[in-house]
Amino acid sequence: MSKLGEFELIQRYFMRVIQDSNILLGIGDDAAALKVPRGEVLLTCTDTLVAGRHFPEITTAYDIGWKSLAVNLSDIAAMGGMARWATLALTLPVADPTWLEGFAKGFFALAQQYGVSLVGGDTTCGPLSITVNLLGTTQASGILRRDGARSGDAVYVSGYPGEAAWVLERILRDEPVGELRCRLDRPEPRMSLGRYLRGRASAAIDISDGLVQDLDHILRASGVGATLDVARLPQRGADIAQPSLQHKLAGGDDYELLFTLPSGQQIHDWEQEPVLTCIGHIDAEPGQRWLGLPHSEFIGLRGYQHF
Ligand code: ADP
Ligand code: MG
Repeated sequence: MSKLGEFELIQRYFMRVIQDSNILLGIGDDAAALKVPRGEVLLTCTDTLVAGRHFPEITTAYDIGWKSLAVNLSDIAAMGGMARWATLALTLPVADPTWLEGFAKGFFALAQQYGVSLVGGDTTCGPLSITVNLLGTTQASGILRRDGARSGDAVYVSGYPGEAAWVLERILRDEPVGELRCRLDRPEPRMSLGRYLRGRASAAIDISDGLVQDLDHILRASGVGATLDVARLPQRGADIAQPSLQHKLAGGDDYELLFTLPSGQQIHDWEQEPVLTCIGHIDAEPGQRWLGLPHSEFIGLRGYQHF
């Protein structure tokens, strides 16, 4: 990509008017300069989307822009943080204005919704790949982490895990998916739920690689196990297509939150979307025991792993 083309591209598609007094320097310098509000700590996370691996090649530019930020927002949500600033490393096969416009629209639609400013990035030529680094802030106390689950805690999940995997499977088979399509292409990061869970949940994680696998991260980090019930997995009304048990337990890309709640904590006043469902409880014995699922079937339910 010629230098002129590169600067024009950045200016045209990614420079936006920013109103954030914590940004001393944004796009245009060698690095952004940011001020962390007094009494808060910085949260940082990075996720890469690679064409054909993290989204089907037919995904629209808008949805790719949306999802590249959404998956990062989901990580900040799982920590109970507030998202603030992002950098974007974009590798493009060609500088196609139509694609760039769609991508920027999707990215900034979500950025605006959650008050995220794009403060820098990198633009290179190569096979399509998008890396977002997202910075958030939060009070040091009350950060949601993976290692706080204790025996007796209830295990909760938000929304309807399995739907993204169900959609992906059908798209790859050229089967219709209807309105559930957005569950794969436009995940809604659970930002307010993450904030709400601060001081309530004992551990939390976002489900990006499948419920069983992501729950395992909490269990291992916390040195505990869990007993869960297949019959309690959240289910929509009968008129809507149902993901299979395999989708629900091992499907990736849902970006729902999975969390544990100590027995004294209440979440009855959570009246917004997404729905929260108790699916079991933590116990001392390591591993997962699923009622209603033969152990042999459980063994096959490992979530997504890249290697
Ligand atoms: P350098 O060569 O010093 O790394 P660049 O020429 O790559 O700087 O980028 C110029 C400016 O544009 C920097 O402030 C950088 O953060 C920003 N930038 C580059 N690519 C993007 C992008 N895709 N989105 C947002 N900002 C970008
Ligand atoms: Mg550069």
